[in-house]
Amino acid sequence: MKLDVNTCNGKCSRCGQCCTIGIPITKKEELTIRKYIKENNITPEDLYEGNNFYAYCCFYDRKNHKCKIYDVRPEICRSFQCDRNYKELEKEKIENHKRAFWNYMDDNGEISNFTTFDLLFYDNPKPLIDLIFSQIDKPITKEKYITAIKKMKKWGLSELVDHMVPHFEE
Ligand code: SF4
Ligand code: SF4
Repeated sequence: MKLDVNTCNGKCSRCGQCCTIGIPITKKEELTIRKYIKENNITPEDLYEGNNFYAYCCFYDRKNHKCKIYDVRPEICRSFQCDRNYKELEKEKIENHKRAFWNYMDDNGEISNFTTFDLLFYDNPKPLIDLIFSQIDKPITKEKYITAIKKMKKWGLSELVDHMVPHFEE
């Protein structure tokens, strides 16, 4: 597989194509970003506003083509550049997903790659939860949801669970 290279003269063109949902972050990064957006009065972008076919990251300013939290962007955003060696980038991606603090939803012993920090920053992440689960190809039963919720609570993800529980009971 080959990545699209969107750089301009070897520099990031800020096209935003790598700024999608599914960016893995650590708990420490989450806390830093929370502090930063509070202090700087930054609100996440509305996922469904305008043409968001690529499901951009909630902090990618689609109008001005820039990262709203550039100073405190996660580690994976700092190291990524699309003209780098694919294998190297893939290795980094795997490492970052392993470090991510809520990437542990397992299903029959398999780890589901469920990391996306957007969920933590939308006022109402329910539509995004719908989107993510609609993209999981195997059927997710109510039992699996309940197991996942129990685990997420144990890992301190009650904020997300608060949005998920009503969704699953519908
Ligand atoms: S690194 Fe990302 S934002 Fe920069 S040019 Fe490549 S795809 Fe676009
Ligand atoms: S945090 Fe910033 S650099 Fe990282 S994906 Fe979002 S918009 Fe892009």
